[in-house]
Amino acid sequence: MRLVLLGPPGSGKGTQATRLKETLGVPHISTGDLLRAEVAAGSPLGLQAKEVMARGELVSDDILLGMLESRLGRDDVAKGFILDGYPRNLAQADALDGLLAKIGQPLDAVVQLDVATDLLVERIAGRAQAEGRADDNPESVRKRLQVYNDSTAPVIGFFENRGTLTRIDGVGTMDEITARILAALKKA
Ligand code: ADP
Repeated sequence: MRLVLLGPPGSGKGTQATRLKETLGVPHISTGDLLRAEVAAGSPLGLQAKEVMARGELVSDDILLGMLESRLGRDDVAKGFILDGYPRNLAQADALDGLLAKIGQPLDAVVQLDVATDLLVERIAGRAQAEGRADDNPESVRKRLQVYNDSTAPVIGFFENRGTLTRIDGVGTMDEITARILAALKKA
């Protein structure tokens, strides 16, 4: 199963991907986690990404594509993957298309988690207290939501045109949402 999870910041992509990887038996690839690992390691890439991420802006498409290409080259993706946090703009959607065509592994499904903005802000504020992520401060959250609306939301249309997109109501218990996603994947 090769799956992309789409949705605004705070929509629960990471939470759901963590649950789905057990059920589906495929790795969870989070570009946010990959970047945070680079930042934590203090690598040149991490140093470049750190400030951009803290501001809630997008790290460059080139960096992301290189990182993703190397991650998709690892053995554990043979059975598929759950991609979370990518693509975040139309250029990345095109790049992903090209990359997957090149390795002969087209997507099976794209699931969009829909959550209203008010609830996103509330959820991220809760997570900020629990996890203390550098980009969960109010200013950065506002920026991430704006970047989502401007750059990421158009990606929904990209996959809609392909007929690979399913939209899911992302409000409910974690179990309910996992069940909705699994039901959508059965149909896909
Ligand atoms: P969230 O879904 O809560 O916004 P992520 O962990 O997915 O958090 O991403 C955190 C940050 O990492 C983003 O705000 C951005 O700076 C950077 N990032 C993650 N994925 C991408 C991407 N595909 N393109 C550019 N930047 C990215």
